[in-house]
Amino acid sequence: MADNRIGRIVIVGGGTAGWMSAAMLARALGPAAKISLVESEAIGTVGVGEASIPQLRNFNAFLGLDEDAFLRATEGTIKLGIEFVDWLHPGHRYMHAFGPVGRPLGTTPFHHYWLDARRRGTAGDDFWAWSANALAARAGRFGRTPGEAGAEPLTWAFHFDAALYARHLRTYAQARGVQRIEGRIIGVDQDGESGFLRAVALEGERRVEGDLFIDCSGFRGLLIEETLKSGYEDWRKWLPMDSAWAAPSRDDAPPVPYTRAWARDAGWQWRIPLQHRTGNGHVFSSAWTDKDAAARTLMANLEGEALAEPRLLTFVTGRRRKSWNRNVVALGLASGFMEPLESTSIHLVQSGLARLLALFPDQGFDPLLADEFNRQTEQEYACIRDFLVLHYKATQREDTPFWASRKAMEIPHSLAERMALFAGSGRVFSRDEDLFKESSWVQVLLGQGVTPAAAHPMTAVAADAQVDGWLDDLARIAGRTAASLPTHAAFLAAAGGPRPAQ
Ligand code: FAD
Repeated sequence: MADNRIGRIVIVGGGTAGWMSAAMLARALGPAAKISLVESEAIGTVGVGEASIPQLRNFNAFLGLDEDAFLRATEGTIKLGIEFVDWLHPGHRYMHAFGPVGRPLGTTPFHHYWLDARRRGTAGDDFWAWSANALAARAGRFGRTPGEAGAEPLTWAFHFDAALYARHLRTYAQARGVQRIEGRIIGVDQDGESGFLRAVALEGERRVEGDLFIDCSGFRGLLIEETLKSGYEDWRKWLPMDSAWAAPSRDDAPPVPYTRAWARDAGWQWRIPLQHRTGNGHVFSSAWTDKDAAARTLMANLEGEALAEPRLLTFVTGRRRKSWNRNVVALGLASGFMEPLESTSIHLVQSGLARLLALFPDQGFDPLLADEFNRQTEQEYACIRDFLVLHYKATQREDTPFWASRKAMEIPHSLAERMALFAGSGRVFSRDEDLFKESSWVQVLLGQGVTPAAAHPMTAVAADAQVDGWLDDLARIAGRTAASLPTHAAFLAAAGGPRPAQ
């Protein structure tokens, strides 16, 4: 390695983002880097963030974490998708299930055959009858390997206690040499000319010097914003949610293997089942309801017994204009935030780390590296933003001022194009840095009532009877796959084993 390699990495913040960074960098860079993490127990962490997407499995696998041990350590459960209730109109529900729905026939995506068969009257309205994930979720079943010949395994993620996950990763990172420093950062030492950071100053006249600083300090962005003034792009005109009440509860029902998101009068409510409790939250816009009314909505709609008073969190939806600025890379809440409707925040930490490793400044801080990092990050955020906005824009609801405003709002051009293309011809494509692939877009577009005027013309190449037989076979395989699995509760009991001593 060249002499100017990055030797000292300082991570500021010990929330989920900080400890994910510590674990991944320690694993990827090994002893080549000296990694320190500064956190302040007095300041604490945001303390929410319980639902993930399947990519987290790759992160855990990269670290070499055993999945059952992870579930035990984090009181985790399985997540097969998200059920959206009352989003299109009251009384309506649909699922964004992970993984594919059906299988492509040749080069034409599955949903075109379904659209065509539905038009001919030979396929039902339930698109999710071809998703083993959705069927297993509805039936409360999960297993890693289907007991059905010819079936593909399900695609899964987790619900977990984020504080316990951070603790798990802390043990992992410290075992690999990461030094944890407890204390409050009160100042920053910067090079006068370049503005590069040299050290952070802690209470008690301590200094931690570094070559590369990872800012995981949460919403405030201690280094990236308070020090470097990198700027913030505010997306509240499209996503006006700015607050959430969160409260844990407990009930006796076995945990379902999916997240629930109910539309409410001025926002929505989540329900995330963990092994030891259920996470609940009401995300709302203070422009459309007041916080006391929002708290009452949450508490009136809890299932089971509340375990604590609700806690209020506030945020500004958007992204940092430069997540990489000089020798500071911001990850987690310090680099931006979008409401947890599709559980994307923790994933953005993971993808930011992968991007940092791909562009690692081992030969020094060439501005091209930061530019490329920022370009990719901007695209990734914008694609997720569009996907979230779709859930609000494509509604039939006008029953409250909030929903009427969402239906009428102007949306980003990039999303308007995608919706129009799909509405006209059923075509939708994932773009550069798009986290959500075609299957996700199709499910939410259909779920939100965007029905294509036509299917792809290539569906006509196969005879109708052949397509219908093939659709029947796929539905049968998906149904039998789901039915062949143990219940989620039985899976957890087998995977959970005895709990580790606290
Ligand atoms: P924080 O947890 O805020 O950590 C900041 C760290 O910086 C702390 O350790 C703090 O002590 C330290 N710090 C700050 N200032 C100083 C200082 N001066 N000196 C020393 N240390 C300092 N994400 C998902 O993926 N799924 C979800 O379901 C989900 N739900 C969410 C619901 C809500 C309402 C909110 C607000 C967020 C949700 N998120 C979710 C996002 C998720 O919580 C965060 O992405 C994740 O926890 C990462 O947070 P963080 O580590 O960036 O910040």
